[in-house]
Amino acid sequence: LGLKRVHKVLQGLGGALGRSWVFRPLIRRLVRGRVNVVYYHYVGDFTSYYADFYKGCTLERFRKDLEALRKIFEIVPLSKIIEFNQGDNLPEAPYLSVTFDDGFNLYRKDLMQILDEFGVKATTFVITSCLNNENLMWRNKLSVIRTTVKEDQYVPKFNDLMARFGGAPIRKGDQMMRATADWDMSRKDEWVDLLWKECDLPPLKEFLDEHRPYFTMDGLEDWIREGHSVGFHTHTHPFCSRLRSEDMEREIFAPALKLKERLGLETLPFSYPFGDRFQPDLEREAFDRTTFSCSFAIEGFAKRHTPNSRLEREEIEGAGAGWALLRGCFR
Ligand SMILES: [Zn+2]
Repeated sequence: LGLKRVHKVLQGLGGALGRSWVFRPLIRRLVRGRVNVVYYHYVGDFTSYYADFYKGCTLERFRKDLEALRKIFEIVPLSKIIEFNQGDNLPEAPYLSVTFDDGFNLYRKDLMQILDEFGVKATTFVITSCLNNENLMWRNKLSVIRTTVKEDQYVPKFNDLMARFGGAPIRKGDQMMRATADWDMSRKDEWVDLLWKECDLPPLKEFLDEHRPYFTMDGLEDWIREGHSVGFHTHTHPFCSRLRSEDMEREIFAPALKLKERLGLETLPFSYPFGDRFQPDLEREAFDRTTFSCSFAIEGFAKRHTPNSRLEREEIEGAGAGWALLRGCFR
């Protein structure tokens, strides 16, 4: 029995406990004074660009999550959670908001049907360089490479590139995601595009036209018209703690303001890629320049009256509602 297996079994057990009616009063009490926000990325069937991150969150799983969440929470729009954070009223049922990172297209009939069925108004945090399927985020490009190119082909090509650019080599394919997390954030897109080309994959445009992973601008407008909301998740999905002052205009300020203006948004929430916050002085500047209404890292459920710039969320896509709720409260 490997460690991974043990973890999985414990997760299943914890999930069952979290979902069980016996614990419902306890969970209800724990979450009452917290700003409960959960996040997903991708909901649907296995696909190459999400293969490295996929944990089996199908439409069916998503539906079960909402069913379980509804037994404890009133599922509310993100703006209502922010109001709750700043106010002092105590709602009858605790609030929870559902969010999605990376801007994958949610304006699909199958998914919208489930959201409508449960009356859920969700928030999508978009990567602006990928909107309209104009690019594929660098981690997802790496996932395509790992899924569709043979390991004994992409590993030496990766190492050749790293020898040229001064990055560390890898021995096995499953080390690539970890190794690339250390890349220079200003060169990540250039390097992953070179690797894509070296691996003889079809032109990116062809891949994107075929898969169309992301929201289009029109899709976002429809999404908003249905009562859902849009947030910002950076322009190219870097580790934000490694952004320098001179990167901020291109990565954060300009695209955030453009998104806000293009969609006529009154408020713009922000979620950190990888949950990795800016350096403190850049965080202050980002809030001043973009007027973000709130920002989220990924450390569970924040206590009520946490400053809006220091909020947190809990991941739910992997283990489902039961486990996420327990973990979210005890972090
Ligand atoms: Zn992300």
